[in-house]
Amino acid sequence: MPRLVLLPGKERSILKRHPWIFAGSVARLEGRARRGDTVEVVADDGRLLGRAAWSPDSQIRARMWSFSPDTPIDHAFFKRGVAACVARRASHPGLAGETGLRLIHAESDGLPGVIADRFGDVVVMQLTSAGADKWREAIVAALVQATGCRAVYERSDSEVRALEGLAPVTGCVHGELPEGAPVIAEGAVKMEVDVVAGHKTGFYLDQRDNRRLTGEFARGRDVLNCFCYTGGFSLHALAGGAKSVLSIDSSAPALEGARRNLALNPALDAARAEWRQADVFEALRALKSEGRSFDLIVLDPPKFAPSAAHAARASRAYKDINLFGFRLLRPGGILMTYSCSGGIGLELFQKIVAGAAADVGVDARILHRLSAAPDHPVGLAVPEGEYLKGLVVQVD
Ligand code: SAH
Repeated sequence: MPRLVLLPGKERSILKRHPWIFAGSVARLEGRARRGDTVEVVADDGRLLGRAAWSPDSQIRARMWSFSPDTPIDHAFFKRGVAACVARRASHPGLAGETGLRLIHAESDGLPGVIADRFGDVVVMQLTSAGADKWREAIVAALVQATGCRAVYERSDSEVRALEGLAPVTGCVHGELPEGAPVIAEGAVKMEVDVVAGHKTGFYLDQRDNRRLTGEFARGRDVLNCFCYTGGFSLHALAGGAKSVLSIDSSAPALEGARRNLALNPALDAARAEWRQADVFEALRALKSEGRSFDLIVLDPPKFAPSAAHAARASRAYKDINLFGFRLLRPGGILMTYSCSGGIGLELFQKIVAGAAADVGVDARILHRLSAAPDHPVGLAVPEGEYLKGLVVQVD
């Protein structure tokens, strides 16, 4: 097996069980390895540290599969790893019955570059690293065996694949997709999931618990849901007894999905829902000049800062929408505001939101600090796996 030899001292992060080996930590590769091949990882003093996948095109030059020097990386490894992820979800009291569920959350689940989401009896798989791409067949077989699903659909069309020298791959890799889109239930709300053309793997499962909380806050309130995608927060607000819900997104297909989702839930009062296709930055200003105001506002924008390098520009964008959020809130109103940017930590996000409230001249307090649902765990050794943060803020 080829050997990746580290520079002196560069074994430290591996000993802390962090799975990434950056290009700058590598002294040399002994032997030949092709993209995705398994390599033995060796410290400068010759100590064996484990096995990793070789990513020659990426700044993350290798990702650890195992921190034990003698675990073979083979079909049985993926069978065990995938089954363990599925079993962890099944043993979680809040996740066991979910029909929409993240089964594998990449690095934080011990399988770098592997994402798998279950929607009913369809599993959507996304492979984002050279090593994961190499083991496609083993991962698919393991998913089928662990879940008994009817189909596995691959959505390896994330732009991060380019950093690994990988082209996009999409399509059915096991079984056949059912006729209609899979439908999942989040509490009382049914949602269909466009696994072929939807964002990411089709649905933002990470916000499941936070959508539920919106439902709990919504009774009797006029709600504004910005960046609504297929209407998740909107439908939960309606189910929770909102007086009205105005939902805004710039994407026509997302809004069509939202309307179909509303129709899937005949118990909800469609007359209370208003949909607007618009740019949120402009729409917030327009709502202010129309004299509109709301009791509950949800801001769940796309990733403005994929990495820390984008933090300054992203901060301005977060500040802008939160500023208008506060301007549009009635006294006693509630802002549920999120950032899914890895490059913006909770501390910075809270500062931005506080700055927006101060600029508007309102006093406000944090009722809840929110994160992704527990099927999106954060590996203790991989703090950069934490990306979603939310604040529920009430104004005076
Ligand atoms: N809250 C949603 C997920 C939001 S994803 C849920 O719970 O499912 C972010 C959404 O923002 C996407 O639907 C995207 O189409 C939309 N979007 C991105 N930029 C936008 C902009 N400037 N104005 C309006 N919508 C935007």
